[in-house]
Amino acid sequence: MNDLLSLFPAGSALDDDGTLVVGGCRADALAAEFGTPVLVVAEAALRARAREYVDELTARWPGGRVVFASKAFPCTAVQRVMVEEGLGLDVAGGGEILTAVKAGVDPALVVLHGNAKSDEEIGIAVEHGVGLVVVDNADDVDRLEAIVPAGSTQDVLVRIIPGVTADTHSHVLTGHEGSKFGLAPRDAAPLIRRIEQSAKVRMLGLHVHVGSQILDVEPFAESVAPVAALGEFPVYDLGGGLGTRYTWADEPPSVAAYLDALIGAAKEHLPRDSRVIIEPGRSMVAESACTLYEVTTVKRGAITFVAVDGGMGDNLEVALFEQRFEAGIVGRFDGAGAERVTVVGRHCESGDVLVDGVDLSTPAVGNLLAVPATGAYCFTMANNYNGNRRIPVVFAKDGVARLVVRRETWDDLMARDVD
Ligand SMILES: *Cc1c(COP(=O)(O)O)cnc(C)c1O
Repeated sequence: MNDLLSLFPAGSALDDDGTLVVGGCRADALAAEFGTPVLVVAEAALRARAREYVDELTARWPGGRVVFASKAFPCTAVQRVMVEEGLGLDVAGGGEILTAVKAGVDPALVVLHGNAKSDEEIGIAVEHGVGLVVVDNADDVDRLEAIVPAGSTQDVLVRIIPGVTADTHSHVLTGHEGSKFGLAPRDAAPLIRRIEQSAKVRMLGLHVHVGSQILDVEPFAESVAPVAALGEFPVYDLGGGLGTRYTWADEPPSVAAYLDALIGAAKEHLPRDSRVIIEPGRSMVAESACTLYEVTTVKRGAITFVAVDGGMGDNLEVALFEQRFEAGIVGRFDGAGAERVTVVGRHCESGDVLVDGVDLSTPAVGNLLAVPATGAYCFTMANNYNGNRRIPVVFAKDGVARLVVRRETWDDLMARDVD
């Protein structure tokens, strides 16, 4: 079962007694110090991935810019790592702008998205000098014209629906005809002309994003020509969406292969002196983290259920779009005496499943269970279902563990009560 280890962050290992080591820290020591469940980020792996993206993009498109799609792991400490590695930040909503600013980003490197931006959010973006606002609809332009102060301008991109579909779950498809995001080319053209006449809104370029967890490169390449057909601009933001390896069956393209296809299409269709931006989220963070749980109960019947002290309160990916994860009992990744089980959470839903069918080695109450590739969208959609306290985030590096987000307290759960 060495395959299981390969799903954990780069640099993970098994100690002499078989215990999982992430970022140089033993899983049992992390659980003892921070409790369970805990989301553990291997900081060196995260930084290496950020650098890989920057190096591979700029090697193919000088002046290319990587902006991290913050929504995949909207935690100030993660945004700060990206800023330190020289990336910009893609944000969706006022809260992500504020944590990006706290993380020390140059606001000029921030790109704001949203299909339903409020006056307040556009106000926050303008006030903080966000570099690019991605216009999704004509109402965005109305709002910008009302909010941008006289004598000042806001640079924008216009989001285009490329009419491209991809082989991923329909809930994470965004570039198909009928998407709620952006405008079809025929609707975008008049809005672009309107922006070009505006005194306050400056037309800088176009944006496209096909979807998420995409495991082949063609849809990315196909999305470029429909955008190029709308004309020449200084900036083209080609979105994110590269898939991640969650299970040993997954074979996502490498960053290099993805960019060979995407930038290959850019070289064919886009002006060479334009700036190309990419916005990786999931593939930037997923594989650099894992979640540690404690087994709470093992129930052997028609199905063997291994229930842990977390679940859909800290990982909604399974319930939302049937993402498959793998799992292993810490200390027994060798698979000795493995039995087929279903790993479930502690929440009051039958859909609260972490792994539907996985071989675990003699699972027992009190064991630690490790789930790899939980860095993307798990922190994001953590919730308080069943009075759940959202789980902490720990950075592990060179054997040193550092708490970056604490566990919620019982008092936190009541902190918003006003009566
Ligand atoms: C979600 C999103 C991304 C990131 O997508 P991933 O699949 O996480 O890489 C990038 N751009 C936009 C506009 C998005 O909505």
